[in-house]
Amino acid sequence: MTMEALAPPPPASTERTRYLPTIDTEGLTSFIPDGEIWRHLEETGSPDRSQVQDIIAKSLAKSRLDPEEMAVLINTQEPELLEEIFAGARALKERIYGNRIVLFAPLYVGNSCVNDCQYCAFRSSNPKVVRKTLADGELHDEIIALVRKGHKRLIMVYGEHPSYTPEFIADTVRLVYGVKDGNGEIRRVNINAAPLDHAGYRTVKESGIGTYQIFQESYHRETYEQVHPRGLKSNYLWRLFGLTRAMEAGIDDVGIGALLGLADWRFEVMSLLYHTIHLEDRFNVGPHTISFPRIEPALGTAFADRPPNQVSDADFKKLIAIIRLAVPYTGMILTCREPVALRNEALAFGVSQIDAGSSIGIGSYSQDAEAHKKSQFVLGDQRSLDQAIRELCDAGFLPSFCTGCYRVGRTGEHFMEFAVPGFVKRYCTPNAMLTFLEYLQDYASPETVVAGHRRMTAEIKAMPDSESLKGHLLERLDRVRDGERDLFF
Ligand code: SAM
Ligand code: SF4
Repeated sequence: MTMEALAPPPPASTERTRYLPTIDTEGLTSFIPDGEIWRHLEETGSPDRSQVQDIIAKSLAKSRLDPEEMAVLINTQEPELLEEIFAGARALKERIYGNRIVLFAPLYVGNSCVNDCQYCAFRSSNPKVVRKTLADGELHDEIIALVRKGHKRLIMVYGEHPSYTPEFIADTVRLVYGVKDGNGEIRRVNINAAPLDHAGYRTVKESGIGTYQIFQESYHRETYEQVHPRGLKSNYLWRLFGLTRAMEAGIDDVGIGALLGLADWRFEVMSLLYHTIHLEDRFNVGPHTISFPRIEPALGTAFADRPPNQVSDADFKKLIAIIRLAVPYTGMILTCREPVALRNEALAFGVSQIDAGSSIGIGSYSQDAEAHKKSQFVLGDQRSLDQAIRELCDAGFLPSFCTGCYRVGRTGEHFMEFAVPGFVKRYCTPNAMLTFLEYLQDYASPETVVAGHRRMTAEIKAMPDSESLKGHLLERLDRVRDGERDLFF
């Protein structure tokens, strides 16, 4: 008998309660070509009208742009040409995605963290934040509160800590899916957590997650290393390949992102495109979503008040339109970090998913009065879900809580919306209407019911009577009115 066989097995709880990923970055080379990025940005200065117009036309013909073409758009300064970029992005959004806006809420599970990210209130060296991880009962209360507001889609957020094991993450996801309240339930859980090793991703995948999201924060390595001085996150390559590992481990939908304010935004936006190309080359499919949060003020975090490369509103809007044109088939997320007016504008020329009614303290949906002391940063949009929905309707958008594709295994739905002719008309718009009607029946205030039905009537009117789909949809809408739930095409 070998010595190993004689040794007692480790207590089950050790594995369950502590996780340090097996970090292996041997042989990895960054796919962010710094020199090439700067060269593209330098060599495409002062582009002319026809160059810009040709690039917009390529995007409208549903082709992903090349980095050099993105650099041309980034270098466009002339107001008239800029207006063409916005018009192009608007046209692309309208043609491909229509007027639907997918709604979700963030749910912060725990803010313990071993890292020391200079911009984040949860960093280990910040004594001002009260550390808290939701116990099962508290998590249950949060879900009930979210479900009672009408939410169906969540992104669950975790600090990086050995106690947030893949098993822990998977258990919290299963807990969420298990909660039923009246007609309500959460139907899709996305994750924003630390990069894992392959085994870790497989464990989390088994709980039935939607998208796994990791933001690189800064793709500029020197900047990255400066703002992540300690902890697991200080390893640039481990994070850069975090979503490559996720896809290798079988997670179909991944979300990339850059935290704006750290390095030059032009470099970060170009890098998001290189990251997309890396995933396309490896897996034949790019990221499901792209996020581009700007750094917001955070408790006890002077760095976040004056980030070194703050992005102006004008540049922010421009980069949103450019990302829309560069990667036409990728979902774009804009969160409540941003103020209402800017979010409303960005919806028209790029953004496809927003959170609403968000609260980012640990335990803050179920009324923890001290929750702000456990918050990561300060929100720019503090409207309720109901108010945000009413305003979306008034502005001509169709709110959607659809999870249809994910439920029937049509992963990479944004790609299908884009690539399969008629997909949006056949699936997305009807599913948006079915889920929106559920919201109006179960959760909306009287004012929102009025605005919502006005929008639904306009949507139905816009569908040709000749189509059999319209008949099927009207029949299902009647069934929702009669109390059936969770119908989708
Ligand atoms: N701990 C995990 C990580 O760092 O990847 C996941 C959760 S972390 C709370 C989620 C994201 O919040 C980070 O990736 C970062 O981009 C963003 N974030 C951190 N501090 C921020 C701030 N002050 N303003 C805006 N976003 C911030
Ligand atoms: Fe921790 Fe994530 Fe905040 Fe960094 S960004 S301190 S890893 S929670």
